[in-house]
Amino acid sequence: MRYSQLFGKTEKQAPRDYQVVSHQLLYRGGFIRESTAGRYYFLPLGMRVADRIMAVIEAEMDQAGGQKMITPVLHPLELWQETNRTASTGFELMKIKDRRGAQFALGGTAEEMFVELTRRFKLSYKDLPFNLYQFSTKFRDELRARGGLMRVREFTMKDAYSFDRNEVEFKKTYAQMAKTYSRIFTRLGLKTQMVAADNGYIGGDYCHEFVTETPVGESKYFTAGDYCAHAEIAKFKLKPKNLGEKSKSMKKIVAKRGPTMEDGVKLHGLPLWQQIKDLMMVNEKGEFILGVIRGDLGVNEIKLKNVVRAYDLRHATEEEIIKLGSYPGFISPIGLSKKVKVVVDPSLKTIVNAYTGANKKHLDYLNVNYGRDFKADLEADIALAKAGDIAPNGKKLAARRGSEVGNIFQLGYHYTNLMKGSTFTDKDGSQKKYYMGCYGIGIGRTMQTIAEIHHDDQGIIWPESVAPYQVHLINLQVSADSIYDQLVKAGIEVLYDDRDDVSAGVKFADADLIGMPIRLVVSAKTKDKIEWKNRAGKKIELLGLEEVVKRCLKK
Ligand code: ATP
Ligand code: MG
Repeated sequence: MRYSQLFGKTEKQAPRDYQVVSHQLLYRGGFIRESTAGRYYFLPLGMRVADRIMAVIEAEMDQAGGQKMITPVLHPLELWQETNRTASTGFELMKIKDRRGAQFALGGTAEEMFVELTRRFKLSYKDLPFNLYQFSTKFRDELRARGGLMRVREFTMKDAYSFDRNEVEFKKTYAQMAKTYSRIFTRLGLKTQMVAADNGYIGGDYCHEFVTETPVGESKYFTAGDYCAHAEIAKFKLKPKNLGEKSKSMKKIVAKRGPTMEDGVKLHGLPLWQQIKDLMMVNEKGEFILGVIRGDLGVNEIKLKNVVRAYDLRHATEEEIIKLGSYPGFISPIGLSKKVKVVVDPSLKTIVNAYTGANKKHLDYLNVNYGRDFKADLEADIALAKAGDIAPNGKKLAARRGSEVGNIFQLGYHYTNLMKGSTFTDKDGSQKKYYMGCYGIGIGRTMQTIAEIHHDDQGIIWPESVAPYQVHLINLQVSADSIYDQLVKAGIEVLYDDRDDVSAGVKFADADLIGMPIRLVVSAKTKDKIEWKNRAGKKIELLGLEEVVKRCLKK
């Protein structure tokens, strides 16, 4: 490719509001352009990177027995209703109507479509297991688009769906996909960590994110030795506080204080951990849920949402709390309306003689003991982990941040239970539901994460596996046309900066910015030799054309 003909040129500056370096570099290098917020053009250079990423993914998916196909992007809305996913506001679902009034979801993920397809076939146990995948455009009406390709509203995803006969067989598929993902990201030049995470709107019981550690990522997780979990689900051990203390009888006292936890600490002169924290939430059906936890801990709203099996949870408003017969800042599980489902964190078993509000302004309870003075409708871990907490394996949690480039999910029978007829005929002639998993990789986010990890002050340093061209050929004063032709003839992918109206400095700067793995320079100085420099290194060598070709082909 001659640079003079290339559509999309380099820029000295990125727009001021581009804060993430990889975003700036992809813009400046001529890889991408934004259309509207969160929707991007991939320019020819960017498309070549995306294509190479997809080629690696495809090769590894095929190696693992995956079969590539494609579904329509518009999914009949009835299918999403069948799985209750139109009710889930956690999902950034977009909808569209055609001129006949038929309603569609713009696919953000495609579980329904693949189940709808497979249930039309009379599958027998001999047909399973199989794993179907596609590369297709996904739509997500994200609240905020952010960081260039990191969080967008429209993007290409590789999504795969596995169908197994039972859980035992599925576990092998899941382990195989985990290995496949590790191999994919290694080939793409990314170190990833497999982080246990929350299934969210996708459904199922467990999942793992593949995360590359970088401060510009949005996944917050913890590691502690071999323990690695997303902040949404991370577990930690609790130490007992004052269990040695004798339990005293509960009393209600006047408490002229403000509504915060600190106000309670100040008024009573007792530690924060001895206070009970009460968080009033409302689910999608308008039902009230009270999260109750030790005062020094935070409520993990995702854990809470999961334990009460809600699609959506939000904080109750002050008016709602008052209408319930309680008072903001003075909520208490004691004497609370029976309408409220009380979820108690096990941390309340680590304290005695606690204090909390009494559901009335300026009234508190002292010496509250869980089990004696109030009971839980549900006792479950709803605590938010923080750095320094002790992981289940006894090691300290360290907080980390990264970019989630891929995700693998166990779905189990989640969809096959909800979608009628998603069965196969087993050996004994009976109809059995298939056991599922799904596996996603975002192409754009992966591409930008690679640029984020592989760059220096001058620009991107593409790993060979994804570079848009292998070689960046530069001519200074003399022509390099014949060298270009010979390299191309030898099967080497070359971007040839053939401009004669820019300085050597500009050409070098552009080569560093665009980031091809090898830079070749032909000038009056190099005579019949070619100057070779790796983008990542400093060493400059003078080589003959034959040697250049040999080395390129070896790579
Ligand atoms: P996130 O937690 O970042 O919103 P997700 O859990 O919604 O991601 P999945 O539904 O698992 O993501 O989608 C699979 C993959 O698609 C992700 O691992 C990521 O690479 C990519 N992806 C998801 N949402 C976006 C987005 N808004 N922009 C870019 N890539 C995305
Ligand atoms: Mg998401």
